[in-house]
Amino acid sequence: MSDNRSRKFIFVPFCLMAQAYQAQGIVKYDWKGTIKPIMQLLIDNEINIIQMPCAESLYKNNLIREPKGLSKYNNVEFNNHCNDLTETVFKEIKNIINSGYEVIAILGIEHSPSCCINYIYTNNGMEKRKGLFIDKLFNKLQKENIEIPMIGINRKYINKSIKELKSIIGKGSDVNVK
Ligand code: SF4
Repeated sequence: MSDNRSRKFIFVPFCLMAQAYQAQGIVKYDWKGTIKPIMQLLIDNEINIIQMPCAESLYKNNLIREPKGLSKYNNVEFNNHCNDLTETVFKEIKNIINSGYEVIAILGIEHSPSCCINYIYTNNGMEKRKGLFIDKLFNKLQKENIEIPMIGINRKYINKSIKELKSIIGKGSDVNVK
């Protein structure tokens, strides 16, 4: 039975919708709750938004934590925790695809040791690699031959992130990106 629903989905990091999940001291930009320009773009374009779990706050069972780089999280326990989260998110992605809908992108947060797509914070500057959680999700999707674009949201260069996202939203559809 047809209805008015959007058939497009996007997976976003938990903190894109809830900045209070970020480590202490790094919510420095204009948006205090959601990262508004990104959320607004998704809402205006009628995209179903799925919030992925926040690996770091679930690991500590607490939202309050110091900002830490890759070396502080890259241990067996945290990696196993990220593997579990990956399985949960992967099942959700499969459900959506099996239902005939489209996952247009997975978003990350640049520099996060768990959720970055391009550059990770290492306690000693930046390194080019994916975050621990996103990397596992990427590998799982690759193994299952599922291709979904990943975009790293960079709060400092938000216009660049918006441009990248707009190009994905417009791809393969007649939709005028708002
Ligand atoms: S772990 Fe991911 S979802 Fe959680 S605060 Fe860091 S970037 Fe956001």
